[in-house]
Amino acid sequence: MQIDILTLFPQMFQGPFSPGIFQRAIDRELVRVNFHNIRDYTHDKHHTVDDYAYGSGAGMVLKPEPIFEAVESVKSGICLEEEIGELPIILLTPQGRLFSQQIALELSKHSHLILVCGRYEGVDERVREHLVTDEISIGDYVLSGGELAAMVVVEAVVRLLPGVLGSEASPLDDSHSNGLLEYPQYTRPPVYREWSVPEILLSGNHAQIANWCREQAILRTLKRRPELLDKANLSLEERQFVDRLKGESSPSVY
Ligand code: SAH
Repeated sequence: MQIDILTLFPQMFQGPFSPGIFQRAIDRELVRVNFHNIRDYTHDKHHTVDDYAYGSGAGMVLKPEPIFEAVESVKSGICLEEEIGELPIILLTPQGRLFSQQIALELSKHSHLILVCGRYEGVDERVREHLVTDEISIGDYVLSGGELAAMVVVEAVVRLLPGVLGSEASPLDDSHSNGLLEYPQYTRPPVYREWSVPEILLSGNHAQIANWCREQAILRTLKRRPELLDKANLSLEERQFVDRLKGESSPSVY
């Protein structure tokens, strides 16, 4: 996958993208990330990227020209017609669709993404109307720029690319991958202070352990994010289990 990020602050990405899984994905050539400074696509002496907002005049807005030119320059480097046709050009904005594991999965299927990071009061509306193909928000709050949002999107997408996590970890059980939160995790030692790891996990009985994990995932989701269960892929017995627990006035198990 190739990811092109348009930003006024490419240096912000240096730290977060270097360690661990991400670096490994780059080393293994599973992903390539290019940064494009929007300021490099200006033509005036002062490299102006923003201007006063029409109307209120409060705050500065990113001008359309450098953003259009930066995106067009990235697109001109793509040879395959069909890739251009499907290429997501994503504006990070608090007004976009709310980012989720589902959207991360959807984006991970593309061979190429372009991410546009806004700043100040945001970007000129014509970027939204005539350039980008998608708008993503990472939550109902306002950041000062799209860079942190782009990092969140890139990190969630890259770990889903085949080969990135390796065989030692699978994203399939992760919270939000199958509509459930993940079950509780333990590692050694089996007893820490006086707190023991649940006995079943030490039993070596793989079938029973798998059942326990599934049940714990359901219980945990019911307790913390019950609304997720409506869309989760549950068997008939599991649905009945959930209905029974919901019916109890003070469920004892979770
Ligand atoms: N005035 C705008 C907010 C601008 S914040 C509004 O009210 O909609 C400046 C930039 O930060 C935005 O252009 C966007 O790129 C980024 N940003 C802020 N909050 C964000 C969020 N929740 N998700 C994604 N990007 C965000």
